[in-house]
Amino acid sequence: MCGIVGYIGCRQAASVLLDGLSRLEYRGYDSAGMAVRSGGSDVVVVKAKGRLKALSDKTDAGRMLEGTCGIGHTRWATHGEPSELNAHPHISDDCAVVGVHNGIIENYQELKEKLLKKGYAFNSQTDTEVAVKLVDYYYKKDAAADPVKALSRAMVRIRGSYALALMFKDYPEEIFAARKDSPMIIGVEKGETYIASDVPAILKYTRNVYYIGNMEIARLQQGTATFYNLDKEEIDKELVEITWNAEAAEKAGFEHFMMKEIHEQPKAVRDTLNSVLKDGLLDLSSVGLTESEIGRISQIYIVACGSAYHAGVVGQYVIEKLARVSVRVELASEFRYRDPILDPDGLVIVISQSGETADTLAALREAKQRGIKTLAIVNVVGSSIAREADKIFYTLAGPEIAVATTKAYSAQLIACYAIAVEFGRCRQTVSDVDYKRYLEELAVLPTKINKIIEDKERLQWFAAKHANAKDIFFIGRGIDYAVCLEGSLKLKEISYIHSEAYAAGELKHGTISLIEDGTLVVSVLTQPELYEKTLSNLVEVKSRGAYCMGLTTVGNYKIEDTAEFVTYIPQIEPCFAASLAVVPLQLLSYYISLARGLDVDKPRNLAKSVTVE
Ligand code: GLU
Repeated sequence: MCGIVGYIGCRQAASVLLDGLSRLEYRGYDSAGMAVRSGGSDVVVVKAKGRLKALSDKTDAGRMLEGTCGIGHTRWATHGEPSELNAHPHISDDCAVVGVHNGIIENYQELKEKLLKKGYAFNSQTDTEVAVKLVDYYYKKDAAADPVKALSRAMVRIRGSYALALMFKDYPEEIFAARKDSPMIIGVEKGETYIASDVPAILKYTRNVYYIGNMEIARLQQGTATFYNLDKEEIDKELVEITWNAEAAEKAGFEHFMMKEIHEQPKAVRDTLNSVLKDGLLDLSSVGLTESEIGRISQIYIVACGSAYHAGVVGQYVIEKLARVSVRVELASEFRYRDPILDPDGLVIVISQSGETADTLAALREAKQRGIKTLAIVNVVGSSIAREADKIFYTLAGPEIAVATTKAYSAQLIACYAIAVEFGRCRQTVSDVDYKRYLEELAVLPTKINKIIEDKERLQWFAAKHANAKDIFFIGRGIDYAVCLEGSLKLKEISYIHSEAYAAGELKHGTISLIEDGTLVVSVLTQPELYEKTLSNLVEVKSRGAYCMGLTTVGNYKIEDTAEFVTYIPQIEPCFAASLAVVPLQLLSYYISLARGLDVDKPRNLAKSVTVE
């Protein structure tokens, strides 16, 4: 999951590595390390548990490590506890090969046994050490001592996911890399070459990047990169220019990335919507969907994880309502293993901010293998999911750094709405009058989101009052229930308060027993036809001692008889209400996390892009 940075050039590598790794901190990690070498001399490895600062302190901000070639890593432990010993880089016993790795080697036990028999010893509990020593084994086995050959042989044996960056003792000023299902990019600039798991790590130094493909190997030298396939044949690659600027990944005066990204939602929504508008009308040709294709789709499957899944739940309600196509929304980690029965005329829509979410990528491949059309809603250009899906709907949220998503989720909602409205038009389930009205309503979403954000102080006050809550429940029906799922997840992610989201009608079937005196219940009521129903549920929890917060549309003042605290959102077409209702819930979570003194942007145990299963 976490971070890899590598550098070869004319500058001291360690400071470039520390700087690059600091830009990947948002991905979450528990330890860090670097390996640096100077010309043909031996490599020096330094590691530290905890924050990057510990590694920086240990190396005097990198000054203690001399050399112009190096690799660095932030680890998010999957195999073996977070510790200095398990931190990367890992090195072969005679220091011939040293490497860092993101991902999981699934058959590491089997490979370890093989290597143990060959006389290898292991110092850590990681799967990574096994991968490094496997490469070392093949490297030494072959008289040619060719790193590309050794890597390709190891890749054939390894099952799982990896982005690997390695240095070989016999190849000074070179880095070798291999990749499968874990992101990695390579940047080049006059006499310097970089490797990183994500663009922000190297954007300060270069905008020219290569995307190393799945099952490909790269050889990096000063200012150049050569690519090979598994058969060790050289492959051509296009150099891509990154057009977004580094400031987009900076805090711009906000205390946290999450707050900055909450404020960027109007822009994310506007940009995403504009990307599929042509002369004021929706046009999905950039996505690759033609009118006749849309007309033939018999069933939609939305597959995603986490918040993207919650965006999919909203999508399900809206697409079914407007386009009258049956939609099934599913968790990618379930879909990929349940041997799904898929209608051949159906469409699988996968949603992922990073485009690297391991389960979603696997679900996409599963769908493709079954010959069903796939469409990806993705934020990161050139990511694995974007490259592999048949059709791509890019959300234009810009780089999202905070682990808890806000603007990418909001942009995903817009993608779902655009699909719903356009499918509705093509399938004639949306009248011309409604089509025009829907577009008008979508166009005013950014202004309305802004209005909610401007009113954030009231939520800050309320959040401070409830920062010590033990449990918080969210209830709603229909689209409001989908919003509750996201609101509850946001709270769990960054405040560590136990929370659940319930379809309000389900309360009586068990959950209501959890309500005690003073339990905070947040109710979302934006759907006119369900308002009275949810309000009754709110009365029920209140009469059992709950402290009630209401989140509803301006004008629904009756709720004040029941709820102790009410937040109003501007009036909006109910189908699109999730885009407004989610904002106060994001702010609530943010302020509760802040009041509890937690690390809002980097919550414990979480990583930004979940590239492992
Ligand atoms: N599986 C490896 C480990 O636990 C790499 C984890 C990562 O991606 O940081 O060390």
